[in-house]
Amino acid sequence: MNLGKWGLVVTLYFFMLGRAQAQETVYSSENIHAAIQCIHNLTLKIYGKGKVAVNPNIPPPTLIVDVDADLTEFQNLAEAQIGLKPDTIFNIYIPAVNRIYLNSSYKSAETGRSAYDTLAHELTHFFQVKYDGSSIADFTDAEEQEAISIQTQFREMYGANIKNGKFECPQ
Ligand SMILES: [Zn+2]
Repeated sequence: MNLGKWGLVVTLYFFMLGRAQAQETVYSSENIHAAIQCIHNLTLKIYGKGKVAVNPNIPPPTLIVDVDADLTEFQNLAEAQIGLKPDTIFNIYIPAVNRIYLNSSYKSAETGRSAYDTLAHELTHFFQVKYDGSSIADFTDAEEQEAISIQTQFREMYGANIKNGKFECPQ
């Protein structure tokens, strides 16, 4: 998520909208953690068009799922990056500590989205910063649109790999 002030407002709006609707699904922290290495590699394939290898010298981001997060710590890290102190934990990549925070709930019936394709979105921001040297402070709408596009591709390619809330890594 590339969060200017309006981005935050829009994000919080949809977050609250999601909470108000019935079809909310929550993926377990354990299941999301089990998937991150696979989704990291799949997302890099999409991002690098199959031509960028995993760089062992670049540490993958630490994943923190909302249910495991310290809200005050998140608020301080988020405020340092976006200039506003959020009330709740939302999806964001924070380069300063190389962390992805992930909200484990989503509204499934309307959008078909899952925590796994959200992870692909935030991992795209990680690749933009750590593999391509972009500064998050200089992000424009282009970086956000790229992350949305890769998230959509990921969902179309691997959405069927979610079984009973778990992401099954394709062989
Ligand atoms: Zn984004």
